[in-house]
Amino acid sequence: MPEGDDIRRDAARIGPLLLGRPLLAAASRWPALVTGLVGAQVLGVEAVGKHLLLTVDDGTTIRVHRGMTGTWRWTPAGQPVRIGMGMTSLRLEVAEGTLVARHAPTVERFRTRERSVRPALARLGPDVLGEGFEPAEAAERARASVQPTAAEVLLDQRVACGVGNVWRCELLFLAALDPFRAPAEVPAETWTELWTDARTRLAERVATGGERNTTGRDDVPTWVYGRAGRPCLRCGTPIRTIELGRDLPRRLYWCPTCQRGAG
Ligand SMILES: [Zn+2]
Repeated sequence: MPEGDDIRRDAARIGPLLLGRPLLAAASRWPALVTGLVGAQVLGVEAVGKHLLLTVDDGTTIRVHRGMTGTWRWTPAGQPVRIGMGMTSLRLEVAEGTLVARHAPTVERFRTRERSVRPALARLGPDVLGEGFEPAEAAERARASVQPTAAEVLLDQRVACGVGNVWRCELLFLAALDPFRAPAEVPAETWTELWTDARTRLAERVATGGERNTTGRDDVPTWVYGRAGRPCLRCGTPIRTIELGRDLPRRLYWCPTCQRGAG
């Protein structure tokens, strides 16, 4: 599942392909979405948490959320675009080629001046990869969160945005934090360290690319994520898993021995 670091990498890749180039064609399985885009130009490509925003010079912005399934595909001009319209969330053609968002569940287009009040964006907390991100502030919001557990706080994009499930599980393990601890019971310093670590690790992945790797090992790239029943790499205890979250349940992985404390 794409997380904030993936979307940053998308933005870095897509910007040079589209910026300042007139759109020769635009299509979507939701045709109303692309009305009037031909002849317009994309002025900005920006990642905000797990959202990618394309600012268009006609005063509109397109928001794409890849969800669990969405991918971006670039096809150079002269080659056939082999993606059926049923899978095409957004297709933008410029002279040099065609960019398709394939199987992305969420695409919307709105007036750019309404950006700050669009529900999906207005609710977002600061982006962990954003310039003004303050780990200590995020720690305060985490402690004041309505979420019942620390594990759920990390996926609550209102507290801070960009962390998804893989990072959530790994960051909790690296902080030795009990995922079921009530957010307010976790010391502010622990939250601050965790958000600092999140920012550092996600930024590193944006810079280096490749697969996510928190262990530094080639054979096992994650400490706990995806390792249910396997021995913990630190203590040997079998890694546990559970579906957690009321609104949007996600599979949590943790080591019950290493993660007994509040950090
Ligand atoms: Zn362990």
